[in-house]
Amino acid sequence: MISKSPYYVNGEVKEEDNILGFKVAYLDKPLELSFTSLKGTQYSYVDFAKCLNYKQDKANTSISSTCREKPEYFCTCGFYSYKNFEHAYKEYISRPGTFLLTVANFGKIIEHEFGYRSEIQEVKYLHYREFCSKYICNKKTFGLALHTSSYGELCEKHYNCGKNQNFKDKITLDDLQQQIMLEAIDNNFLLSK
Ligand SMILES: [Zn+2]
Ligand SMILES: [Zn+2]
Repeated sequence: MISKSPYYVNGEVKEEDNILGFKVAYLDKPLELSFTSLKGTQYSYVDFAKCLNYKQDKANTSISSTCREKPEYFCTCGFYSYKNFEHAYKEYISRPGTFLLTVANFGKIIEHEFGYRSEIQEVKYLHYREFCSKYICNKKTFGLALHTSSYGELCEKHYNCGKNQNFKDKITLDDLQQQIMLEAIDNNFLLSK
């Protein structure tokens, strides 16, 4: 990615200053609204960038080369998101078990050609697949259930089906939308373009 100059939003969280981006993540705990990035790091629905690119000296007294402000232009830390919904969507459909998120970026934001790297990220929308993930079911999604290691969309019948009672955790869309704004994505969104 080609970086342009970093810019500030005055270091303050202001609703009118947020910049929307789109990204892909795993849903970690729906009720706590925590997510796991594709790289395996966890964040909550509002979170602050951490810089892990630091080294401690042998005496463990000082930290060097961590970002003074997160993210710095030269570093890789911060929350990544695409500018363009379709770029995020292409990644989303290639990674089963993920969700597409619309996020608002705040604080210090570094703009790249196709996306942003930000200091503060708030997840605004959780986009889910409109139809049941069971093979050729094609009924409207009713809830999400944890299956092996990630959440998937299920219709009402499959959500309540006896065979699926071994799901470790599940939540209806009605309950989830008490926590976060939801928006369905047609499974064939890109094919229609
Ligand atoms: Zn950093
Ligand atoms: Zn179904």
